[in-house]
Amino acid sequence: MTVGDELFVTEVFSAIQGEGALVGERQVFVRLAGCNIRCGYCDQPEALERRPGPCRLERTAGRRDWEVRSSPLPIADLTRDLDRLWDQLPHHSVSLTGGEPLMQSRRLAAFLPRWAREGRPVMVETNGTLPAALARLLPWVQLVSMDLKLSSVDGEAVDPALQRRFLEVARQRRVWAKIVVGPDTDEGELAGAVAMVHEVAPAAEVYLQPVTPCGSVAAAPSPDQVLGWQALALRLHPRVRVVPQTHKLIGQL
Ligand code: SF4
Repeated sequence: MTVGDELFVTEVFSAIQGEGALVGERQVFVRLAGCNIRCGYCDQPEALERRPGPCRLERTAGRRDWEVRSSPLPIADLTRDLDRLWDQLPHHSVSLTGGEPLMQSRRLAAFLPRWAREGRPVMVETNGTLPAALARLLPWVQLVSMDLKLSSVDGEAVDPALQRRFLEVARQRRVWAKIVVGPDTDEGELAGAVAMVHEVAPAAEVYLQPVTPCGSVAAAPSPDQVLGWQALALRLHPRVRVVPQTHKLIGQL
């Protein structure tokens, strides 16, 4: 077996999508390990490092009857486990999430073609910082949920020009942008991100996601703040919705 035949994974399971354009849809989630940035509000600390360790795979869709194995997982094994979950009920799509799934784009390029051949839609949930990696996988990806990062909220300094280049690739598919907003959101930074979406991908929806307190983030934004930011964003782009992390409201993974 070569390195390219394995994927660093933290968990595989069937669940209800809780964010963005596909809220409420049933998906099989493949949570890949490793992320290239460190957002202050990150709710997946166990998925940040790409290194060998345990991972868990659900046996029955939605039952959380986990089987613990070792990551990296051989792609042949992962494919078999995904087939089993996918076939247990009508899923909308497979979500490649993380961490940052595009960090393993070369390995995913060995894994995705078979899924595409069988007509199973693939969505990538990404922080929107690796445009070349997305381009590599685009033939097998139908849906892109892209984060637009605001340094006033996540504490990282993600380059807006890099995110623009990412969106220029992603607009070849159905793409939407998710912007996490917190109590300290800088309005100029938010306006710049929304204006960029309007310029680069005018058909894309923007989802403002009030931060769920987690990690170093202690508070959510106030109702007045959220109303004000949506008004600001709507003046720049006609497709702006506010959607919190609904899976957390209903006690889902
Ligand atoms: S991009 Fe996502 S996985 Fe990476 S640190 Fe930020 S919230 Fe966590």
